[in-house]
Amino acid sequence: MHNFYGKLLVFTAPSGAGKTTLVKHLLNKNPDKLTFSVSATTRAKRDNEIEGVDYYFLTPEEFKDCIENGKFVEWEEVYENQYYGTLKEEIDRLWSLSKHIIFDIDVQGAMNLKKAYGDRCLTVFVMPPSLETLEKRLTQRKSESEESLSQRIKKASEEIHFAKHCDLQLLNENLVSARGEAEKICQDFLS
Ligand code: 5GP
Repeated sequence: MHNFYGKLLVFTAPSGAGKTTLVKHLLNKNPDKLTFSVSATTRAKRDNEIEGVDYYFLTPEEFKDCIENGKFVEWEEVYENQYYGTLKEEIDRLWSLSKHIIFDIDVQGAMNLKKAYGDRCLTVFVMPPSLETLEKRLTQRKSESEESLSQRIKKASEEIHFAKHCDLQLLNENLVSARGEAEKICQDFLS
């Protein structure tokens, strides 16, 4: 399969907009073609998360070493003292399996991947119906402390302005139709 031309399908959105759900849906629908880019992060692991599946959980020192050794394609301090990044090795590893790669990353990271990979990369902004809905979803998820919740909501209102810089916008008002639209985007881009 030496002719394989790997692509990057990047889903981005404010936290709580539903991008993770859509990304998981696409992975279930396309298990042979598509695989998930596991990011590195310094944030604490949630109970339902698995090391190496959801994230590579690194200490701040390990993360810093990776930055200094040029191991990231992109990295961001997404929230105060919480670093996230995409490892070059991860992309090479997944492409060597002849899979296209799907990402769930923040807006700045999405812009940086686009810059690095151009047409090989499609950025999709998942738009929440409103900030109120977003706040409600984040509160119901119960994964965040009060402080983290308010940080995420503040960041969301800033991030929404970046939608226009993405290749496509996908409104996530109704999960069924958002899933259908995501499937279509994925099919068009990978074919
Ligand atoms: P969470 O803590 O909810 O898993 O993720 C917080 C935010 O960080 C989300 O917007 C998520 O998409 C983003 N994120 C996850 N991995 C990466 C990454 O590798 N790079 C960047 N820039 N953002 C990431």
